[in-house]
Amino acid sequence: MRRMLVAGNWKMHGLGANLPEIAALRVALPDPRPEVIVCPPATLLHRVAGALAGSPIRAGGQDCHWNEGGAHTGDISAAMLADAGAAAVILGHSERRADHGERSETVARKVAAAWSAGLLAIVCVGETAVERDAGAALAVVGAQLAASLPDGATAANCVIAYEPVWAIGTGRTPTPAEIVGVHGAIRAALASRFGAGMARGTRILYGGSVKPGNAAEILGLADVDGTLVGGASLRAADFAAIVAAAG
Ligand code: PEP
Repeated sequence: MRRMLVAGNWKMHGLGANLPEIAALRVALPDPRPEVIVCPPATLLHRVAGALAGSPIRAGGQDCHWNEGGAHTGDISAAMLADAGAAAVILGHSERRADHGERSETVARKVAAAWSAGLLAIVCVGETAVERDAGAALAVVGAQLAASLPDGATAANCVIAYEPVWAIGTGRTPTPAEIVGVHGAIRAALASRFGAGMARGTRILYGGSVKPGNAAEILGLADVDGTLVGGASLRAADFAAIVAAAG
């Protein structure tokens, strides 16, 4: 009943020269079973959305400001993302939390702004290696989840992405038991705050070094409803193979 979602996060990669990867993705995934979203850098969003027009694959942003507009040099509002063709936006990614000191309370304001613009919010949470080694993974993820999600979260307006910081771009992944443990805890936390129906319907993605070679195993785990893919989303062939594993 929860449709799998595979989202690609291009991060700060991608120039116009990379647009053929989008065309290749369309050819490789004419009718994907999972929902598929590609999140290029903001500079490419409009062109990627155009290249995906008529395809079930949708485009998304990687961040937005919490205000609708105003004097915020260099920032982009959720409405601007929507206007450029985005259907979704990644919020609270650990690289933004680290690079820009983004706090969960700020993430929550961005999530609310995304909803106002009609965007699906892909809300990222995840512990560092130090926090996991200290036995604090569930506490850290639980606190981030609670503070990053405003009231009003539904299965239709948000997706949670569990991304252990130590697994992102490192080639390391948690054990299946570790992934299942955190995903189960996230679903339980959603149930206690938003109700059993919301928790049952909300997709929880795993992200962190997902590749064609490990996607099927990870996507087959309990409470894993898709994946947020970084590096492997840059090549259409690899990303399509991960989507196939989710189907
Ligand atoms: C990410 O940045 O969201 C991510 C999961 O990256 P990678 O797949 O490269 O680990």
